[in-house]
Amino acid sequence: MKNKPLQEGKHNRIPGRGHLISGVVAGSPAEKAGLRPGDRLLRLDGRPVRDIIDYKIAEADDTLRLLWLTPTGKLRRQTLHKPVQEPLGLQFEPPTLAPLQRCRNRCLFCFVNQNPRGLRRSLYLKDDDYRLSFLYGNFITLNSLTAHQLQRIIKLRLSPLYVSVHATDPKIRRILFGTQLADRGLENLEKLAAAGIGLHLQVVLCPGYNTGEVLERTVRDLARLGPAALSLALVPVGLTAHRAMGPPLRRLNQEEARALLRQLAVWQRFFLRTRGSRFVFAADEIYNLAGAAIPEAESYEGFPQLENGIGLSRLFLDELAELPNPPLKPPPRRFRATLATGREAAPLIEKLARRFNRVPGLALQTKVVENRFFGAPVTVAGLLTGRDLEAALAGKDLGEAVFISRNLLKEGSGIFLDDTTVAELEGRLQVPVQAVSGPIELARALEGLYRAES
Ligand code: SF4
Repeated sequence: MKNKPLQEGKHNRIPGRGHLISGVVAGSPAEKAGLRPGDRLLRLDGRPVRDIIDYKIAEADDTLRLLWLTPTGKLRRQTLHKPVQEPLGLQFEPPTLAPLQRCRNRCLFCFVNQNPRGLRRSLYLKDDDYRLSFLYGNFITLNSLTAHQLQRIIKLRLSPLYVSVHATDPKIRRILFGTQLADRGLENLEKLAAAGIGLHLQVVLCPGYNTGEVLERTVRDLARLGPAALSLALVPVGLTAHRAMGPPLRRLNQEEARALLRQLAVWQRFFLRTRGSRFVFAADEIYNLAGAAIPEAESYEGFPQLENGIGLSRLFLDELAELPNPPLKPPPRRFRATLATGREAAPLIEKLARRFNRVPGLALQTKVVENRFFGAPVTVAGLLTGRDLEAALAGKDLGEAVFISRNLLKEGSGIFLDDTTVAELEGRLQVPVQAVSGPIELARALEGLYRAES
């Protein structure tokens, strides 16, 4: 259908400034309809688009009436037909189509406050936005959620949401969140659960504040929310060397991690019997700290909090176990390479290297990289920066390539947290650097490198 330019007039006034379209996916329904980057989306199905939630709901339809404004000020409208659920293909700046709801907490352990200087601006943004929780699984606190927003979540069934609880004891909550608003967060949580909004919950464990009896109460209270409470993740507090002055905070020690896992086993047995689900899950880091085996995949019940570091190690181990034996073809000639990782994941990576090194002619070495950027207490591989890798690897015998975990890079890009690029790191190390997401991808990448060399 041909786009119709509209005449501006009494009945055709430009309805607001709309939302700037920053990109249009090639071949998408939007592109076919004639929308281009730089246009402004004014209405969908005759209604203004308040934010990304309105947009997502509207775009799920098979018929859409679009009204937009071109950069030269021409109004255009078109009705388009597409398969139900096919994305329209528009990208916006900002991606939420509305200002982000900023966080009003002052958490004792706020990771954003513990960032060193010099990271990209987005890493200093503190959001607490239910839309990002629903769309991308960001954890929110519900502490500054308004009555209107609560009603919108319930009306539109924005479920599940991901919620940081930390404690249900009101006094401890106020201390941990650093605000009296923590009381409101708990009320909102109860209202959402009563309305049947699914909730994936988390407690960041801060020994001396919300562990022991406080944690027992939290687990009990959250289970009482009923079936809407879908899962509860227990994750250790993250502390960097850049934490400014504040009340003392420390991580769990090995004894505490072991005691916690013993208690977890009791809770999981109880909840499996009474709810049909284990409900409470511990982060991989806690098993590592305790020196305990990672549970079998079945115990993770579909991995509801994978992004939160709950079960990633199990998936890695299972992927490794499923590889054929040998995991890849032998190289045409001797081939050496380096697997770079943080201290936390080193045992898993060494296991992987041992398995791959059974392939005749292949020699993989593991290099453990200290996190200088955030400080030595940070041991997870995902927070290593390009400069950390350079400091640990430059001038070393790395073989013919270096492999890193894909989660070191900004999604869909070759950029590390400190804005170093993979290309820059390659230049400094003088070897190719490849990001892989697991054992299978590593096997493919190695075979690709052999082919390129033969
Ligand atoms: S909720 Fe707490 S941890 Fe998250 S950004 Fe706000 S202050 Fe920081």
